[in-house]
Amino acid sequence: MEQPKAPKNKKPNFKFNLYWIYSIIAFTMFGLFIFSPNTSVKDENWSKFEELARSNSFSKITVYSNKKMLEATLFDSSASKVFSKDELANGAKERQIKVSIPSADKFNDQVQIWKKETNFHADITYKEDNDFMNSFLWSFGPLILIAIVWFYFMRRMSGQGGAGGGVFNVGKAKAQIFDKASVNKTTFKDVAGLSEAKQEVEEIVEFLRNPSKFTELGGKIPKGALLIGPPGTGKTLLAKAVAGEADVPFFSLSGSDFVEMFVGVGASRVRDLFRQAKEKAPCIIFIDEIDAVGRARGKNPSMGGNDERENTLNQLLTEMDGFGTNSGIIVMAATNRVDILDKALLRAGRFDRQINVDLPDINDRKAIFGVHLRPIKIDESVNIEFLARQTPGFSGADIANVCNEAALIAARGGKSFVEKQDFTDAVDRIVGGLEKKTKITTEEERTAISIHESGHATLSWFLEHASPLIKVTIVPRGRALGAAWYLPEERQITTKEQMLDEMCATLGGRAAEELFLGRISTGAINDLERVSKQAYAMIAYYGMSDKLPNLCYYDSTGQEYAFTKPYSENTAQQIDKEVSDMISQQYNRAKEMLTKYKDGHASLTKILLEKEVIFKEDLEKLFGERAWKSRTEEILIQDEAKEKAKLTLESESESSPEETKTL
Ligand code: ATP
Repeated sequence: MEQPKAPKNKKPNFKFNLYWIYSIIAFTMFGLFIFSPNTSVKDENWSKFEELARSNSFSKITVYSNKKMLEATLFDSSASKVFSKDELANGAKERQIKVSIPSADKFNDQVQIWKKETNFHADITYKEDNDFMNSFLWSFGPLILIAIVWFYFMRRMSGQGGAGGGVFNVGKAKAQIFDKASVNKTTFKDVAGLSEAKQEVEEIVEFLRNPSKFTELGGKIPKGALLIGPPGTGKTLLAKAVAGEADVPFFSLSGSDFVEMFVGVGASRVRDLFRQAKEKAPCIIFIDEIDAVGRARGKNPSMGGNDERENTLNQLLTEMDGFGTNSGIIVMAATNRVDILDKALLRAGRFDRQINVDLPDINDRKAIFGVHLRPIKIDESVNIEFLARQTPGFSGADIANVCNEAALIAARGGKSFVEKQDFTDAVDRIVGGLEKKTKITTEEERTAISIHESGHATLSWFLEHASPLIKVTIVPRGRALGAAWYLPEERQITTKEQMLDEMCATLGGRAAEELFLGRISTGAINDLERVSKQAYAMIAYYGMSDKLPNLCYYDSTGQEYAFTKPYSENTAQQIDKEVSDMISQQYNRAKEMLTKYKDGHASLTKILLEKEVIFKEDLEKLFGERAWKSRTEEILIQDEAKEKAKLTLESESESSPEETKTL
């Protein structure tokens, strides 16, 4: 491994700045104003000049022979012959007149006559006026002005990305560098859960801190690690923690930072990044959202001959495992589209390790809540276990959002602590959008919405595999006019029966409208979209159709079927038929079930119209206890029972502390 190089003597960094030009111009103007001779000048004709000359009114005369003009300075006593009273009051030291002359020789002849005829005795000087500056400005001024404007705009354009402004710096990498001295460090303590991923990256930090531990046994230090996972799961956070923990410089930039409108810039930025990194090795380079440059080559529909992104990727591939050695540099990258990355980028030797950062499970969610609740003043009613159970499918970013939203809701309510209800409201808001109590709905619409939502609620109560309901509301939220909350079970695999039950419950809204209202409405669009997509996925992707069994037309790389379908026209028709058959079967099933439970549905609609929100408990009162309980529900019930027992115990201990001991 390369040893870290001694820091080079840094050259003082004098950067050209446009404000310098502004200051120089301002100073020059100020200087001219202060130091320019304080002189009043007036243009006069020859007759007037001759008259003044004959009366000996001038102290000195300067003749500019090349310009065929002269400047004559008046005696103070003669100034009033030319300047008015007001003009004389301006306090100028000298007063001059400017006159055009036929030529210097003719003027000289005239002077001789005046000297003979009058007592004219002004000092006369003959000069060639040096007009270089004037002519230079006239010839080159516009060019200079254009150059300044062009330079200014190019700086603005190329400097937008932050560091390394200037048109000549476009090829420089714009990486942000963190090192030991950086403040606001993120550490592994700030990353909750993700234990496997954390272990892998901790090992990378260990490689850099203590390489001999691994190399002594003949092992090689990995060249790269790719963090893969859905959005908001903490990939960037994990990388930041590596930056905070590793005692080595950390270069961070985003995949899109390589891309610029100029051809060849991406590749040169990659080269520059690795050159900078080599100077500081051992170090880590982190490229966030690497899919911006790492997309598979050769599949570009633009068909351009010289694809800038491909050049950038080629350069990246070369730098990561090319002919030159880049020892001591570990490249970390993050993406949520690993399927579209170029295969060459993923091979061992470039990204040796692929670290999956998945959506957190219940224990991870508990830990993440633990991190984000730290700065929040919470009430005793808040139970992390409960919060983690209420948020299946939430990412770390969603959880951070829930905590923040709950604090904002509590602050809006003027509370001094954030309560359990605030968290529940925050979850509702994030799932369903903002409550819009002021949205105007007619009585007829409210009835339709109640019938629709009760349809969902009734079916999910009586279908074994449908997600258990938590609450239903007809208060508009976000863009929806009503909403139902379910507690989905956290499954790793889903069976056909489970999917069909969910489909049937989703169709319950439209089925109820048709059965009990006699007409259907646009309100079911979201349900229909979900159901259609799910049915298509079941048939074309999961091979769950009887007529087209075990066939999968899914392309996990996302590249094969960009323009064409992988099946024949005949199969396409079969797929369409199967999808519509599946949906209509479930729709009929929904209608049958709703007919069977129509009384319950009618009562539910009535309660919903009255109360606007109904909970699981109301359904239990109406339909009796649900016959099936999901695993998540069972655990939740056990937790609630435990909490109740704890509360009773605490209240007993408060009344008679001795009793607790005996318990
Ligand atoms: P994307 O792929 O969209 O860039 P990401 O996976 O990089 O997303 P991050 O930017 O790392 O997501 O996470 C966003 C925020 O979510 C973090 O700033 C943090 O507040 C929170 N977060 C995510 N995961 C965790 C975690 N495991 N522990 C604590 N906080 C987390």
